[in-house]
Amino acid sequence: MEEHLSLKEKEQAEEVMIQQAFQELLNDYLATKHRKRVEIITKAFNFANHAHKGIKRRSGEPYIMHPIAVAKIVCNEIGLGSTSICAALLHDVVEDTDYTVEDIENIFGHKIAQIVDGLTKISGGIFGDRASAQAENFKKLLLTMSDDIRVILIKIADRLHNMRTLGSMLPNKQYKIAGETLYIYAPLANRLGLNRIKTELENLSFKYEHPEEYAEIERKLAATAAERDKVFQEFTAPIRAQLDKMGLQYHILARVKSIYSIWNKMQTKHVPFEEIYDILAVRIIFKPNNMEEELNDCFDIYLAISKIYKPHPDRLRDWISHPKSNGYQALHVTLMGNNGQWIEVQIRSERMDDVAEQGFAAHWKYKEGGGSEDEGELERWLRTIKEILDDPQPDAIDFLDTIKLNLFASEIFVFTPKGELKTMPQDATALDFAFSLHTDIGTHCIGAKVNHKLVPLSHRLKSGDQVEILTSKAQRIQPEWENFVTTARAKAKITEILRREAKANQQKGESLLRDFLQKEGVPFDASAIDRLTNLHNFHTPDELMVAIGSGKLVLGDADRNLFKEKGGKNWKKLLSFSFGKENKDAKEGKEEAKPAEGKSEKIDTKKILKLTEEAISKEYIMAECCHPIPGDDVLGYIDEHNRVIIHKRQCPVAVKLKSSYGNRIIATQWDTHKDLSFLVTIYVRGIDGVGVLNEVTQVISRQLNVNIRKLIIDATDGIFEGKIQLYVHDVDDVRTICNNLKQLANIKEVSRIED
Ligand code: MN
Repeated sequence: MEEHLSLKEKEQAEEVMIQQAFQELLNDYLATKHRKRVEIITKAFNFANHAHKGIKRRSGEPYIMHPIAVAKIVCNEIGLGSTSICAALLHDVVEDTDYTVEDIENIFGHKIAQIVDGLTKISGGIFGDRASAQAENFKKLLLTMSDDIRVILIKIADRLHNMRTLGSMLPNKQYKIAGETLYIYAPLANRLGLNRIKTELENLSFKYEHPEEYAEIERKLAATAAERDKVFQEFTAPIRAQLDKMGLQYHILARVKSIYSIWNKMQTKHVPFEEIYDILAVRIIFKPNNMEEELNDCFDIYLAISKIYKPHPDRLRDWISHPKSNGYQALHVTLMGNNGQWIEVQIRSERMDDVAEQGFAAHWKYKEGGGSEDEGELERWLRTIKEILDDPQPDAIDFLDTIKLNLFASEIFVFTPKGELKTMPQDATALDFAFSLHTDIGTHCIGAKVNHKLVPLSHRLKSGDQVEILTSKAQRIQPEWENFVTTARAKAKITEILRREAKANQQKGESLLRDFLQKEGVPFDASAIDRLTNLHNFHTPDELMVAIGSGKLVLGDADRNLFKEKGGKNWKKLLSFSFGKENKDAKEGKEEAKPAEGKSEKIDTKKILKLTEEAISKEYIMAECCHPIPGDDVLGYIDEHNRVIIHKRQCPVAVKLKSSYGNRIIATQWDTHKDLSFLVTIYVRGIDGVGVLNEVTQVISRQLNVNIRKLIIDATDGIFEGKIQLYVHDVDDVRTICNNLKQLANIKEVSRIED
């Protein structure tokens, strides 16, 4: 019959089927107590239907039938409202079509887009071929990434529908998906109190993994059904009579152990089907006349039935006073039946039964005022689940899961731009992540993009973040990096490389110093090195060598003078003592040199003070408040110890000094020749975009060969802001750098600032 239909007729028939399925979903939704937000649900359906148009599932069904089915599970079996239904309808749009999360956000708003984004993230890359290898990580991710727990709930619904339709997949895929379901999704459903879904997922997985054993247990259950029914009727008859006498509204169910649970027990206890005695349990579900009496009613029923049958002394389980961590409440009692077998009886109210089957979704169904999907209420419920995930109770039955969860608390899960999942310790920064990828990436890291936003290297990562590392060949490891990496790996690498660089610089410094001294005709020995170490205020000769080798200290006239003038005199004197007593000589040299350094003669404030490189590095103090550099308009202040402190003229401290100690102020004039380096901070602001940071650092490091000491970048709402600390010689350098930075298209503002 079908073969005779034209393509168009076939399409029309499919469209009718799709519309029917959607109408069913709408009817189901309208039958709940949720707000009647039909419009947005219809919009989501139309959007998804259009996006998936022409695509078929393996079963041959139009693709859209899958999102509709997932939305139905979300609505009927998990009890969620319109936001989740919309997200379920749209859950495969970003992954499988050309639409983006931004498109969803524009049409359906932030919340729905965020959930769809979460669903796409946890499916992209992870459900690729490496899926099983990442299963453990994925499970952790689901548990920790609970920004919005609805992501997990919808993912479970998605998996449930895929399991229900697993028959049309190839067998090898069936095994993979079934295994994953048993390992990840069934425990998750259990954790969230979705008992019915958990049982179904387990049974379906078992059915595909062990089809013969499944069929065997199913057959045996059917063969023993009549006998169980007989036991059930005989056992419950006196109970019914008693409950009727008490005037209770109730119904009694025979609860048959699930096929998977039976198999599981056969495996763990090593017994045949025939020796599983708790296949039948009895469930008494009552409707309390008064909600306040709900708990008391449970115990009244317990007392009444334990007068009929003898209760097992060790098997009373009180989940009433102490609910399970997933919200489960009931009273379990095991009674001796007339056939001589123990039978478990579960006593629950209707409310408790709903919670047991539907999890927390059932909770707010019983809230006062009968709920619309009041956001506040929903948020509260979602938060409850999150709390359970975050802080599992010690009395949770699934002890194993509790232990696992605690382990997870110290880990976060982040994605590479390609969707690969990486585990990092909690508090890991972007720089830690860079080092975890590769030492080279860490070494040359200049910043990172977290969820497409530019962040500094010190940015702390959160679970679910997508992290892209930005590198530059010009970048080198900075000493302050040690302060904000948290992983042992990154720390060790940074220390190692810094140590190696220091060693290289020390050697280089040593050879530079040797050359320098040779030119001056001074022997290279401990005495000369000590005097230079003292002159430049280093603690050890090693520090001096490193500074020279790294170019931070350039030896100049001040150093020459040390040996030529008074130093020269000292030198000759020392020389006569120096044979074989280098240490003692060095000490003496130090003491002798001291009075030469201190300028005790009075400074003439009427003269203009020449700020030579020697004077700057040796005598004068650059004010900490305004950090003047050669070329700035400055003045000198002679303090009570007769020291000259150089301030910028517009510095607030200098303004005060001018008015209070006018007689201690001295005019100055720069007289420098680009030997010394000074630290300045440059502020940049502009449009954030790929590569901006790179361009900025290139201008500074490559074009001008200036040393960046610190780079702080912040990007919010598309605006890029940066503070760059670098070493320059004078204001000319600053001007050149600023002018070059201003040439960059994206940079709108460049200025030197005080910090
Ligand atoms: Mn799906």
